[in-house]
Amino acid sequence: MTDRKKTADVIIIGGGIMGSSTAYRLAKQGLDVLVLEKTEIGNGGSCRNAGGVRQSARDVRELPLAMYAVSNIWPTLGEELETDVEYTQRGNIRLGKTPAHITALTNLVKKSTDVGLDVKMVTGDEAREICPYMSGEVLGASWCPTDGHANPLSTTLGFYKKALENGAVFVTGVTVLGLKKQHGAVRQILTNDGIYEADRILLCAGHASRAIANTVGIDLPVERETSEVFVTEQMLPMFDVMLGTSDADFYGHQSEHGSFVLGGMGGLEKFTSNYEGNETHNVTLPKLSRGVIGYFPSLAGVKIIRSWAGQYDVCSDGVPVIDNVPEVPGLTVAFGFCGHGFGIAPAVSIALSELITQGVSTTIDISKLNYDRFAAKG
Ligand SMILES: Cc1cc2nc3c(=O)[nH]c(=O)nc-3n(C[C@H](O)[C@H](O)[C@H](O)COP(=O)(O)OP(=O)(O)OC[C@H]3O[C@@H](n4cnc5c(N)ncnc54)[C@H](O)[C@@H]3O)c2cc1C
Repeated sequence: MTDRKKTADVIIIGGGIMGSSTAYRLAKQGLDVLVLEKTEIGNGGSCRNAGGVRQSARDVRELPLAMYAVSNIWPTLGEELETDVEYTQRGNIRLGKTPAHITALTNLVKKSTDVGLDVKMVTGDEAREICPYMSGEVLGASWCPTDGHANPLSTTLGFYKKALENGAVFVTGVTVLGLKKQHGAVRQILTNDGIYEADRILLCAGHASRAIANTVGIDLPVERETSEVFVTEQMLPMFDVMLGTSDADFYGHQSEHGSFVLGGMGGLEKFTSNYEGNETHNVTLPKLSRGVIGYFPSLAGVKIIRSWAGQYDVCSDGVPVIDNVPEVPGLTVAFGFCGHGFGIAPAVSIALSELITQGVSTTIDISKLNYDRFAAKG
């Protein structure tokens, strides 16, 4: 580990989709970029997620990123990355079974249409026309025809491959322990492999980012939560939309190959013994499956062939922090993606590359995802 390159213009902490896609964009502009990853590229949420690429049911502060990504990046991302990212744009239906669900969905639809998103409420029968096999108990749903899904693994590794081709260097198996300022600006990265140095540092290490930011006096209200995903045996084509529910208890889609990829939180995850691990649990996974069958009774009896768990980096107000940190010149942060960062990642990386090279994001409005929204006011 001694002769390794340890300096760069920009060092990125975290080799998930945020780190890999930003490395690609910066390296393409000719910057000298180094990515430090504790385990393997994409081994965090980025390759463990369910692939939802949705604009609907997002906080409006995040919508500019989601709408930009769907309008301008996802349709041609496969060509750009020269990788089949399996992007499918057949809509997202978010289901409700109770009057309270319908009220919640209607409120979300109103907020999104107010900022120009093409999303509407449909009745239970209309929802069953869009997506047959659904329980008769579904009373209504929100429907966004321009939402869709993609393959998280090939997308994340596609960005990684392109970053490498453009000259970015990735170092795996290095754990960042903390940051250190020099002459008032952040400069050094302390790791289990000694000190790395850069003029600019991007911290996008998921839920681990909080503790790393703490070492230069920054604290952001981001916590870890576990979510589980399972893959079923291959089935004949049943539906091609992305699914979700008002309570967000499950989400997913049927892949091109016929397997269902379904994930969510049954509500008991915090109480299990492997809460911080990457494996599913014999209590939570069956609960999640029962939740799915409640909406899609015809999936009862379908075999689960694979399952895993992953960690969300949940920010207390439901959206990430994507910003330069004024108190720590040289530091840019991007974490707190709350279980919905995959779909916006291709746009987040544009904003991040602009924050790093120009000091501000000009292409997409990320002003409501600012760092100082948590600062004491008054
Ligand atoms: C089960 C599940 C389902 C999801 N479903 C969806 C979905 O359908 N749609 C959607 O849009 N989003 C979804 N998400 C969220 C999405 O996956 C994340 O928001 C996104 O992947 C975040 O990317 P990231 O690069 O910030 O984080 P990560 O992919 O977690 O990457 C962070 C990286 O930092 C590394 N790291 C951690 N600590 C250190 C350290 N000390 N030193 C060096 N490296 C370190 C980690 O090993 C990891 O590789 C889901 C997430 C999960 C877990």
